[in-house]
Amino acid sequence: MDIVDLMISDHIVTIGDLQGFPVTVQKDPDALIEALGRAGKLSEVQQMRYRAIAYDYTIKSDEEMMATTPHQIDGIDREFMMFYTACPIELARGTIIWAAADLPNKRLVSEIVLRHRKSRHEFVWATPKAIEGAIERMSKREGHSLKFLVENAYAQINQGNDDAIVSLTDEIIRTAFKNGATDLHIEILNRKPTVLARIDGELEELVPLPVEVYERVLGRLRHIAGVRAENYKKPLYGRMTFDLSSRQQVDIRYTTQPITLEGTAKIAMRFLRSFEGNLDSFGYSNTTIEKIDNLMRFEEGCIIFSGPTGSGKSTAARLMIRRGQRPGQNVISYEKQIEERMDNVIQTEEDTSAGLNLETFMYAALGLDPDVLFIGEVRSPEDTQKAIDAGNLGHLVITTMHANDTFMTLDRLIQRKVPPEQIFTNVRGIISQRLVRRLCSKCKIPTEIDLEYADKLNNLRKVGFRAGDIIYRPNRNGCEHCRYRGYLGRIAIEEVLELWRKDISRNIWTNTRLRPDWLDIIREQARSSGHMIDMLSGGLLHVKNGITSLEELEKFFSADMETIQ
Ligand SMILES: [Zn+2]
Repeated sequence: MDIVDLMISDHIVTIGDLQGFPVTVQKDPDALIEALGRAGKLSEVQQMRYRAIAYDYTIKSDEEMMATTPHQIDGIDREFMMFYTACPIELARGTIIWAAADLPNKRLVSEIVLRHRKSRHEFVWATPKAIEGAIERMSKREGHSLKFLVENAYAQINQGNDDAIVSLTDEIIRTAFKNGATDLHIEILNRKPTVLARIDGELEELVPLPVEVYERVLGRLRHIAGVRAENYKKPLYGRMTFDLSSRQQVDIRYTTQPITLEGTAKIAMRFLRSFEGNLDSFGYSNTTIEKIDNLMRFEEGCIIFSGPTGSGKSTAARLMIRRGQRPGQNVISYEKQIEERMDNVIQTEEDTSAGLNLETFMYAALGLDPDVLFIGEVRSPEDTQKAIDAGNLGHLVITTMHANDTFMTLDRLIQRKVPPEQIFTNVRGIISQRLVRRLCSKCKIPTEIDLEYADKLNNLRKVGFRAGDIIYRPNRNGCEHCRYRGYLGRIAIEEVLELWRKDISRNIWTNTRLRPDWLDIIREQARSSGHMIDMLSGGLLHVKNGITSLEELEKFFSADMETIQ
């Protein structure tokens, strides 16, 4: 395109302006643009734009740039991109398409080719503002850069080169960890292998993998986890220490579960982050902490932490042990798999092939005269009975169980045939909890509630909502602070059933047998005692205080909360 015509039709210059320049300048686009710039007719960005047009580069508008997905690629860091005002925006069959503001640019091209010799490079023009915006967005949404690495690896595999798999696998692990994930999964979703990360309890899709890439990433993971894949029908376990950077490492537990499709498996990787934090940062209320301190003063009996998978019950149990541990106190643990290392605790891991099960452990452990026994999740009736029974042998037994709330935990103990009199003699307290996501404080959206809605909420639980109160909901688009999720971190909502208080467990017997309505009686007595704040009440208080949202609570208490729709 002739840029002189274009500039005239763009009303940038007039024919009169041009006639002031020598013909040699008029005929040389570079010279003309420069001269117009010096004459103050073209801004710097306009000069760049017309130069790109003169050299036949495609022009991307700012709007088009907003619709692109900028990518992070090997060897091209943010500094490089900012220096050259250029960033990769597309990858198609071995070709990387770059947006750049200053074109043509021989130095940029040679620097890029130096780093990515095997790919072809094409360039389009965009304004510096649009490119800088794209670089900003890129550093925010890591999934995009993973997608690019996957595409890059796929293109290389098709050229017979597997080198990119190593850096791709590393980057998948790093990205998940950096985003605060507890677990990384690779599963087949809708027949497509997909990498997912559990962040704040929610499984989020990080990036899909083409089958060719998936197989190689799997191979790479097995290699670093030190597991061999002779038999896909068997679950595999492994462990790896992964270098996040030259200064930081993380231990990862690696598990594969075979799935029906031959040669495919479900991969779960758990980051074994070092055990940090205390009960306060967990978000327990002061009254809960007080109740737990009371429980930890018992020298005998059982304390049970319950909740569904992912409710943080075993973390809570560990926090409580650490908080309550006195100098010289002897704490021994028995866990299916050691999830977190604990200081000053003798930790034992189940090993049935070596004959180490709960029974043999107990026999050995009791000989060591422990003050506290921590028994990781009990699942079978036999193990549950053993754990509760150990509560009257002169040690404090702390264990965890899968159950929805404190009352259902009691019910489950009965179902598992623990003798009722043993339950009510040995169990001192049950703590049940959920972890709900905290609203991002920077982007949460306020809503004022009216009288009718306040009444509805107060009918759920009496937590004192008033007309005109402000509650919050998440911003669906999120913000930079919360990595575009609307939520950031989690907080516990918990309830403590203090069975040691005799007024809670009275009136439940007829002679030596439990009354049929014993559970309702306990529930009612716990409520009327004034000692117990149930989980939903705790959650609603967090809503009232702007910490979480009603819709987040509904995920856990949908049945209770139907009336507020
Ligand atoms: Zn936010």
